[in-house]
Amino acid sequence: MKGFSSIDKEYTASTYKRFDLEIISGKGSILTDSSGKEYIDLGSGIGVTAFGINDEVWKNAVTEQLSKVQHTSNLYYTEPSALLAEALCRKTGFKKVFFSNSGAEANECAIKAARKYGNDTKGEGCYKIVTLVNSFHGRTITTLSATGQDSFHKLFNPLTDGFIHIRANDISALKETLDESVCAVMFEVCQGEGGVIPLEKNFVDEMVKICREKDILLVTDEVQTGNGRTGELYGYMNYGFTPDIVSTAKGLGGGLPIGATLLGDKVKAVFSYGDHGSTFGANPVCCAGALSIINRLDKAFLDEVKAKSEYIFKTLGSLENIESVRGLGLMIGFKAKNKTSAEIVSGCMEKGVLCLTAKDRVRLLPALNIPEATLEKAINVIKEVVEEN
Ligand SMILES: *Cc1c(COP(=O)(O)O)cnc(C)c1O
Repeated sequence: MKGFSSIDKEYTASTYKRFDLEIISGKGSILTDSSGKEYIDLGSGIGVTAFGINDEVWKNAVTEQLSKVQHTSNLYYTEPSALLAEALCRKTGFKKVFFSNSGAEANECAIKAARKYGNDTKGEGCYKIVTLVNSFHGRTITTLSATGQDSFHKLFNPLTDGFIHIRANDISALKETLDESVCAVMFEVCQGEGGVIPLEKNFVDEMVKICREKDILLVTDEVQTGNGRTGELYGYMNYGFTPDIVSTAKGLGGGLPIGATLLGDKVKAVFSYGDHGSTFGANPVCCAGALSIINRLDKAFLDEVKAKSEYIFKTLGSLENIESVRGLGLMIGFKAKNKTSAEIVSGCMEKGVLCLTAKDRVRLLPALNIPEATLEKAINVIKEVVEEN
């Protein structure tokens, strides 16, 4: 041990229960700790390092921009954010993009856009946003309020008013809730922190239909499901509809902090000068890195993501001791019959594989470009851990 973990424990706010693991460096899907031990990384910094650690294409894009200008302000134009906004719109059909620095901020922007739209179209009383029980939308007070998990709420009252939580896949609850005071529904197509739970297709279909009829905005929180993670560019594309607003972050920056809120036709003009802003938002270095990520998420690449996903589903799904495997693309959660997810994570770590958890599941979010052989090696380790007693 280099010993910086003890310094961290002494001086860093105690919000994170870290593993006893000091990460020093890495390459691709391999991380190296302070004792020189190597790990296969199936967590990607929670779905952030989409093309792995120290990826050459991403690093070149970032360092090239770094040697030009690292930051100006949003008073001036810079090329990377212009090109990234264009790429995001061209690839999705969305019309405008607002850049921020995190998932929570991307959601804050989505919430402001939805409220403004409600106010513009239906008046002041139209501000409520329906979200789902067990969702996760971030840690700011407002995105916590949007989050449909009471355990996150209780210590931080008063919360932001105007969020209604309904159960996922409950169409009658949704119908009862959607009145003139509701401007939007916001949801993850596959709940990540909630335990890797994809929404049912017929619930999504019905929700889309009702919201269209009532001119209620559809907002997908694609902070985790976005940017190729599910095998499609954005998670909603698995469901055959297009939302009005998409928020994203995590994998978008490939490891640098960036959030983006995509605004569709209905809301493309909802913001005017001064309505929203961010000092660091649209940072040219982060945008240059993000552009190098987005440009590589073409059909051939996404087909590889899907093939790796199928391999994991098939291999883990066939194991006697695994109760269930669920998820979308390379966002996968599984549960064993004989061990808790914490036991599996620590067993894997000992054998050199890093996995995440989400609720009672082991969660896998490998780099999208993880080499097949590396993935197979890691899955074999999981298999060993799940099969031993
Ligand atoms: C991680 C996450 C967030 C919060 O993102 P931060 O960058 O930590 O603010 C919001 N929504 C979803 C679905 C997430 O997975």
